[in-house]
Parts: sequence; structure tokens; C-alpha cells
Amino acid sequence: MEQPPIIQVRNLVKRYGTFEAVKGISFDVRAGEIFGLLGPNGAGKSTTLEIIETLRDKTEGTVMVDGLDLDRSPNEIKKVIGVQLQTSGYYPGLNLTQLIRLFAGLYNRSVDPLVLLDSVNLRDKAKALYKQLSGGQKQRFSIATTLINDPKIVFLDEPTTGLDPQARRNLWDLIREIRDKGTTVILTTHYMDEAELLCDRVAIIDSGRIIALDTPDGLIDHLVASGFEREREVKKANLEDVFIGMTGKHLREE
Ligand code: ADP
Ligand code: MG
Repeated sequence: MEQPPIIQVRNLVKRYGTFEAVKGISFDVRAGEIFGLLGPNGAGKSTTLEIIETLRDKTEGTVMVDGLDLDRSPNEIKKVIGVQLQTSGYYPGLNLTQLIRLFAGLYNRSVDPLVLLDSVNLRDKAKALYKQLSGGQKQRFSIATTLINDPKIVFLDEPTTGLDPQARRNLWDLIREIRDKGTTVILTTHYMDEAELLCDRVAIIDSGRIIALDTPDGLIDHLVASGFEREREVKKANLEDVFIGMTGKHLREE
């Protein structure tokens, strides 16, 4: 028997004043998948995520997270999810180990900071300040903070925006590891290559409406079946392959 979805969104509407940012969307996220929300800027991705994360009020609709109703049990939902904290909230004088201890205290959890830092490849930065990290390291640290409460679901809003190709690949590996340990991941991205490689299923949102939802393969097959053909034959490599080939795939000071 198939497991019930870990997230169930039905007819979700969000109005900011008279402006309807989310126009009655419905979707399920399955337990253990990487689910991608794709869409142009302003489509309503962050609004949707923040409503599910209990950080923003919805206008209409129902949201269930791990069997919990958002209207009735927001505090219980908070306990089973991991949300990236705003980086501006990181106390500038504390190093990574101290920050993890601080956040663990807020969640009432005991975690070994070094084990957690190791899981995101930042063990050697244990004594570094957040501001001393590179862009990719900052993202990995912020993903580590989402794991402190051992969540069932992790929310990542544009985790790879602004990162270089290596840092992006390192983050894909990390996100896959999180999924492979059984954690459900829901993320947003503007990079279609990333969504195609990383996501088990994606929803495309445009102007507050879901216009497609399937596996990346399913969406591509559907387009091809409709008669679509690329204008020119694609080469066997692209410029990003050249870049990665020349500068290395390994983890480095991004
Ligand atoms: P996305 O994350 O897909 O880029 P958002 O969910 O951030 O989109 O925003 C969706 C729409 O709602 C945008 O038009 C945005 O300007 C608007 N919006 C977002 N937050 C607010 C807010 N607090 N007040 C008014 N409008 C908002
Ligand atoms: Mg957004």
C-alpha cells in the first residue's frame, strides 16, 4: 500500500491585500522524495513554502503536514520540519560550533556540533565565524541548521542561487544524502538542470497557479510527445562541463 503523502495542500489561496499571490493550488509531497517548486520570480513559491512552514498566514485552503492540520497544530508541525534560518539572525561573534549549540538549545535538542558539521563537510570550519565562510560553505552551514531537530521534512528556498558550479554540485550531493537518509526535501530553484538531476518530482508554478506536476522525465516526455524538437542538435558537452572538467569536481574553497 502506498504511504499517505507527508504534505497535502488543498486549494491554497494567499492574498496580500487585494493581490492574489497564490490562486488555489493543490499538491501532495510524498514521504522521502525531493520535491521541487519551479517558477519565475513572483510566482508564489516562497509564499507557499512559508505557509507550510507555519511562518506565514494563509487566506484559504487546507494544509496537512505529517498528518497534522496546519490550522490546529502549527507548533507540532514546527517540531517535525527543518527550515533555513535567516542568515541575518546569526550572531556575528559566535563560531559555527557555538551557533549550533545555540540553535540546539532553542530546539531543546542535544547535538554534537562536530558530527553535524562533518555531515555538511564543514568540520574544519568548526571554529570559524559565519562571515568567514564562502558562499557554498554558508549554504552548507545553513542546511546544517535545518537538520538540528532531526526533522522529517526539510525546506530549502533557492539553496543554490548565486553559487558557482562546484559549490552547486556539492550541495546537490548533500541534498541527496539528506533524502537518502529518509528525510523529505522540498526546495525551490531557478535552475532547470538542477531540478532535472535532483528532484524526484517537480511542480511548475506560474502566477500563483500550478501549471504542471510530474517527474522531470515525465514532463520532458510529454513535451516531446507533443511534437517538440530542439532547434539544433546539442553537443555532447556544454560550457559548464568544460568549466568543471578544468577546475575540478572536488570540494574546495569555493
Ligand atoms: P517567488 O518566491 O515565487 O518569487 P513570492 O511568494 O515571494 O514569489 O511572491 C509572490 C507574489 O506575492 C509576488 O508578486 C510578491 O511581490 C508578492 N508578495 C510576496 N510577499 C508579499 C508581502 N509581504 N506583501 C505583499 N505582496 C507580497
Ligand atoms: Mg522566492
